This record gives sequence, C-alpha cells and structure tokens, in this order.
Amino acid sequence: MPPAPCLRYKAGVLNEPSSPPETSPPWAAVLGAGPAGLMAAETLASAGHRVVVFDRMPSVARKFLMAGRGGLNLTHSEPLPGFLARYGEAATRLAPLIAAFPPEALMRWAEGLGQPVFTGSSGRVFPRAMKALPLLRAWLARLGALGAEIRLRHDWLGFAPDGALRFRTPEGEASLRPSATVLALGGASWPRLGADGSWVSALPGLPVAPLRPANMGFRAEWSEPFVARHAGTPLKRIALRFGEQAVRGEAVITRDGIEGGAVYALSAPLREAIAREGVAVPLLDLRPDLDAGEVARRLAMPRRGQSLSTFLRKALALPPVSIGLLQEALHAGAPPAELPRLVKALPLRLVAPQGLERAISSAGGLRLAALDEWLMLRERPGLFAAGEMLDWEAPTGGYLLQACFATGRQAGLGAARWLEGQARHG
Ligand SMILES: Cc1cc2nc3c(=O)[nH]c(=O)nc-3n(C[C@H](O)[C@H](O)[C@H](O)COP(=O)(O)OP(=O)(O)OC[C@H]3O[C@@H](n4cnc5c(N)ncnc54)[C@H](O)[C@@H]3O)c2cc1C
Repeated sequence: MPPAPCLRYKAGVLNEPSSPPETSPPWAAVLGAGPAGLMAAETLASAGHRVVVFDRMPSVARKFLMAGRGGLNLTHSEPLPGFLARYGEAATRLAPLIAAFPPEALMRWAEGLGQPVFTGSSGRVFPRAMKALPLLRAWLARLGALGAEIRLRHDWLGFAPDGALRFRTPEGEASLRPSATVLALGGASWPRLGADGSWVSALPGLPVAPLRPANMGFRAEWSEPFVARHAGTPLKRIALRFGEQAVRGEAVITRDGIEGGAVYALSAPLREAIAREGVAVPLLDLRPDLDAGEVARRLAMPRRGQSLSTFLRKALALPPVSIGLLQEALHAGAPPAELPRLVKALPLRLVAPQGLERAISSAGGLRLAALDEWLMLRERPGLFAAGEMLDWEAPTGGYLLQACFATGRQAGLGAARWLEGQARHG
C-alpha cells in the first residue's frame, strides 16, 4: 500500500502510521517538525520510545531548509563562556542544557549524519554542503529507522477539556491522548514557513512573554533619490555602534530601511530603544579600518574642483552607497565641516523594527521560569517545550539552531524519563 500523502517527504518515505497510538504502551507526541521537535523525537526514539511528530505543514522543517539557503550556520566555535553569554538574560537557564549538548556535540551529530562541517573565518560552523537538505534527508532516514512517525497536515488546535490534543487534519478534527507531549512549535518569524505563534492562544493561562521580532532590519526614512539609487546595495566592511556595543560586518540598504548581519547583531538593544523612545540612532562607521585622524587628514586635502562625490571616492575609497548616505546627512542639515566625523560616526535614525514576517527569529515565548530542568511545564506534568517558542533570544551566528537542538534534546530526555515513569506505574 502506498503511504498516505501526508507522510510523504520529498526525500523519502517516513513510517506509516501503525495502530492508533492510544492502544499502544505509553507514547510521546512531538508537536512541530522543526529542528527542536525532530531532535526531541530522535532523543525519544533512541531511548526506545514510540514517538509521533505532528506538523501542520505538508512537509517538515521548512524554516530549517530556509536557513540552509544562507549556508546553514549550525553553531559557532567560540569558547563556551562567550558562547553562552550570547543568550543574555536566558544564559543561566540555557547553560546546563547547552553544556550537555555543546557545539562540539552538534558538529559530531551532523558528521554522524554524513555531513562534515567546517568553521569559517568568523568562527561560524557550517556543513560543507552549505545547505540543509542533505542533512535533513539523512536525519529523516535515521528517524525512520528508529521507528519515529511523522504526521503532516496536522494543525494542533489546543487541548480538549479532557486533556486530549486536538488537531485539524484533512480528514477532519482528530484528538489524541499521548502520555507525554513535547511542544516545539517555533516562534513567529517568517510565518509562511509554518510557525506563526498561534500556539499562544492554544495555551491559555501559561506565562508567555509577547513574541517580538529578533535579528531583523529596521525602518529608516530615506529620501526617494537615495532609495531609487541604492535600495538593495550592500554596505561592506562597515562598523555599527549603539551604546556600548559595536560590531563590524555588513548591512544592506532596503527600500524602507536597513538590514543585514551588523544590524541583526544590535537588533535587540535597538528594538528596546525604539520601544522606549520611539527612535534609535546607532552610529555607522563607513571606514572602520581608518582612524578618525587619518580620515580628517585625507579630507583636509585640497579638493581641486572635484565634486564632493569624486573627492570622497578618491580620498577615502568610499563606494557610491556610502557617499549617498553622507549626502543624505548633509541634505538633512549636517554642516559640511562635520564630514570627517560623519564618515566615522554617521547617525542612522531608525524609527521602527521590521515586522515578524521578515525577522530571522523572534524574541519572547513561553517563560523559562514556568519550566523545570527537563523543560517540563511545572503546572502541566507530562507537557514539555523546546526551541524558539521558549523565551530566549540570541544573535545570528549559529546560536539559534544550537539552542533549538539543545533544548529539543533536553525536552526529549525529559519526556523519555516521564514515559519510563508512566510505564513503571502502569
Ligand atoms: C531566513 C532564515 C535563516 C535562518 N538562518 C539560520 C542560521 O543560519 N543559523 C541559525 O542558527 N538559525 C537560523 N535561523 C533560525 C532558525 O531556523 C530557527 O531558530 C529554528 O528553525 C527554530 O526551530 P524550532 O524547531 O524551534 O521552530 P521551527 O523551525 O519554526 O519549527 C516549528 C514547527 O512547528 C510547526 N507548527 C507551528 N504551529 C503548529 C501547530 N499549531 N500545529 C502543528 N504544527 C505547528 C511549524 O509548521 C514548524 O514546522 C534562520 C531563520 C530564518 C527565517
């Protein structure tokens, strides 16, 4: 018999549903087939438990595959203390989980799936294939071999009054009663990939910090000529400073603002400043490799009838987009005598964060204080949670996936212990 279409994944066929799970010994449901959910499922299945993964989408791990388009930055090679500090306020809670499944373990795991990794010059770790599909294929094959089932097009609606999980499926509404459930429903960024934060209303009464964009761009009010000429242009080898934090990297001018790595790295404090004050003004260094004295010296040279842009291009080797930014500042009223200062610290007036639909990740989620060390909800025994739906945030650089994998594993271990307890007590 061919497998039902909802179980078919491009790369292979997952286990067909066997008997209704209700009739089997204690089993676990994992809600969400992203990296956190699949890791929870692998952990449960490796411990010999029956596990069924449910996802509302017609195929698994769409955001993970999207992350693969950028090369799939799996983790980062920096030493653990610095690594953990990237999780800010959540670092203390995540530390033991990440220490139990650290970057090194994640690299070995990927290699165990036939995907060797390499560390880039920035310290970021990628699979050599620079995409997610080969890793995902091998992972699904492993899950299949372990006996894990995956049921797609199962949209979790919440709990029935008797505690059963309610799903909308192509065949109508279904309800199931697993002995343990791992929620791995993701955050709310890029909702068209499956995770849209709708789980918040399915979990009334549980403490949830509002879901907000993280690692996102910002809106700036560019002039029309600037947008017409420079939208889509990268700003390479720049530095961005906000408060005490400074990053070197790249950014991209968009039609309505700015995005890219250097902006994402400062996005959390920028977002908070806008929420507080309505605007955030980081300073852009257009030539971070030249000190202010050298910039001033070069700009003090005679112009000899050259236009301002020619002069800036020749004196400082600035690309047109950087010159355009300086001209935006001059048109807004900055005195020309300020040019040397502007080259090193150009104020960027950011008026709003981009929305969740384009953010790389989301901040907020199920509060960590509501979970025990196994990521089980203290008030809902047998219910675990993992991944981006938890209330932590981190910059890009592999920190997001590392925490998703580590929390998925921990919730899987917790659910496995729970099932073992259930089996013992009968
Ligand atoms: C463009 C882009 C690039 C990225 N690149 C990187 C990168 O290089 N490195 C990195 O570390 N991170 C990256 N990330 C972030 C990373 O992909 C996410 O943090 C990670 O996928 C979150 O994993 P998760 O399992 O918690 O949630 P998700 O991957 O979002 O999975 C959640 C799953 O739950 C399902 N679901 C949600 N609600 C329901 C419901 N009610 N019923 C049933 N199923 C439901 C969804 O369909 C989805 O499959 C990137 C993100 C984006 C958008």
